[in-house]
Amino acid sequence: MATEISVDGQGLSDRLAALALIGEIEGTDGACRLALTDDDRAGRDLVVTWMRDLGMEISIDGIGNVVGTMAGAEPGPPVMCGSHIDTVRTGGRYDGNLGVLAGLQVVEAVQRAGITTRRPLAVGFFTDEEGSRFPPDMLGSLVYTGELPLEEALDIVGADGAVVGEELDRIGYRGPAPCPSPPPHAFVELHIEQGPILDTEDVVIGVVTGVQGISWTEITVAGQSNHAGTTPMAMRHDAGWAATRIAVFVHELATEFGPRRSAPWAGWSFTPIW
Ligand SMILES: [Zn+2]
Repeated sequence: MATEISVDGQGLSDRLAALALIGEIEGTDGACRLALTDDDRAGRDLVVTWMRDLGMEISIDGIGNVVGTMAGAEPGPPVMCGSHIDTVRTGGRYDGNLGVLAGLQVVEAVQRAGITTRRPLAVGFFTDEEGSRFPPDMLGSLVYTGELPLEEALDIVGADGAVVGEELDRIGYRGPAPCPSPPPHAFVELHIEQGPILDTEDVVIGVVTGVQGISWTEITVAGQSNHAGTTPMAMRHDAGWAATRIAVFVHELATEFGPRRSAPWAGWSFTPIW
């Protein structure tokens, strides 16, 4: 028989607000906690404290991914949720943090209702999901899933010259749990919408059906400087004009493919679930 329980929304807001105070950007609701900085460490420490308060068992792997687990009636792979708590330089308080703290709120609600789940429940946060300091983004989950070898990840040099492995040691978050990790039984991530569509359409929640496939191209346009008044138009090699034409062409090409920014063959879509 199903038991109806609900999460404490105020409790979730309070945790989000408390976490947003670490690295807070004055005059905004946001925060800056770039991966593996002192502020990231302070944010990690706070979330780990909340996990411990809920009696969760903490495991930290070699790339600093942290997973808190609440035992279930049966052992085995957990039902897991989570996201990231690192931010970009001008991060909002919900991006990533919501997915982690909502998980803790679920654990708390389950405990308050006196329910023992069949499988363990786990909440995780992954290192350097934003990629703002260390490329690539989603670094922690790449290592977690075995898409990127740990040794390679530890040697990555950041935009400020820092090295992932050294920074992990410095903030005390290089742990012994193995990575890649054994897969969870199931994984779900709640994430604040990263674009404006649901908000504009007044839809409360949707299911992500795909992510962007970014491709970066650097183009150098070389021209020829010459006398402005005496060079006839037909004999000019104006790099600015060529670069502008390229920019306009690319914009029009993208617009032609439709409103979605990726996968033009699929057409843009989201699936409202309530
Ligand atoms: Zn995010």
